[in-house]
Amino acid sequence: MLKKNFEEVEAKIQAACDRVGRKREEVTLIAVSKTKPVELIQEAYDLGARIFGENKVQEIVDKYDELPDDIAWHMIGHLQRNKVKYIVDKVAMIHSVDSLRLAEAIEKEASKKETVVDILIEVNVAKEDTKFGVMPEDAAGLILQISKMPHIRVRGLMTIAPFVDNPEDNRGYFRRLRNLAVDIGENKSDNVTMSVLSMGMTNDYEIAIEEGATMVRVGTGLFGARSYR
Ligand SMILES: *Cc1c(COP(=O)(O)O)cnc(C)c1O
Repeated sequence: MLKKNFEEVEAKIQAACDRVGRKREEVTLIAVSKTKPVELIQEAYDLGARIFGENKVQEIVDKYDELPDDIAWHMIGHLQRNKVKYIVDKVAMIHSVDSLRLAEAIEKEASKKETVVDILIEVNVAKEDTKFGVMPEDAAGLILQISKMPHIRVRGLMTIAPFVDNPEDNRGYFRRLRNLAVDIGENKSDNVTMSVLSMGMTNDYEIAIEEGATMVRVGTGLFGARSYR
């Protein structure tokens, strides 16, 4: 089941790359393992997966201890400032930075632990009331302020597109995020690159790849439906 799912997602990523003339290596698959038990994650690891996405601090901390060291954990969920300290030296990237205060908390904890953290700025590109993320027009200003923090590297942008029946409906939002990254990239601040575009989930990752995604975050398509406790 898991093997077949990974093969299916892999084939779809390759096909999306082919459709727009992109190289497969330009797209990183993040296996979103939130709510899934370590046994299942170990199975995915044994199939070759090394990059996993989680959205809760406690789950990252627990799984980090139980699973192999060479896993790159990506924090993709909303992050509270008082919990930054638990994961700042455990994660390869934080995708969900959307305020100066959160960035300041990351800077402080990263400095204490003498590490440098790669982050993405989460943009609420569809301006949905229910979503976290900075408004598109505020992203450049926020990044300029964060660029002065020596223990943070801004690597790009992330978005969670609206939940839609037809993934084509999200194409415009993905395009908007890419254009925003291009605009911000022209500012050329220290500690800032716009090389990562984290966009696309199970429902819409193929469209996201066609529109330039460099990281897709796929949960259900790999691990099956989630049951929340
Ligand atoms: C859960 C989650 C995903 C994966 O969602 P699926 O629809 O299961 O692929 C991707 N990104 C974020 C931020 C998530 O919280």
